[in-house]
Amino acid sequence: MTDRTGQCMCGAVTFSAKDMADTFSICHCKMCQRWVGSALKGVSVKTENLTVHGSKNISAFQSSEFAERANCKICGSGLWWRLTAGKYVGNNSILIGLLDDVDGLKLSTEYFVDYKYNTVEVPEGRTQVTSAEVADIIQDFTTEDKT
Ligand SMILES: [Zn+2]
Ligand SMILES: [Zn+2]
Repeated sequence: MTDRTGQCMCGAVTFSAKDMADTFSICHCKMCQRWVGSALKGVSVKTENLTVHGSKNISAFQSSEFAERANCKICGSGLWWRLTAGKYVGNNSILIGLLDDVDGLKLSTEYFVDYKYNTVEVPEGRTQVTSAEVADIIQDFTTEDKT
């Protein structure tokens, strides 16, 4: 776990994150491709460990029943994907390019590998998850008791 800082392209949104994961994942789903223009690379952090400045400059889009995507209203930078339902609610995947420093981050998992473009090259040795397997994961975390 590492503390990191970051910001959007224009600097209207800045953040500091405590205890971020030391791994990142890649998502090749079509929504991520359309949102960021390519595969999404994200680092996990819990909402309670995320301190955001410039919140008034953030717009959030509910992109599915269980998650929203945040952007800077001024420059349009994608910021994070946040779970809004299910047992992992409050988890954020911060777009890796926002971070001031990515030292020590290692790729752990690729999601939606069956949607992956052949323009994306990543090193061997990571877990690869298909869209069918992701559907099972979503089913698992969204059917949990929401107390
Ligand atoms: Zn901005
Ligand atoms: Zn995705």
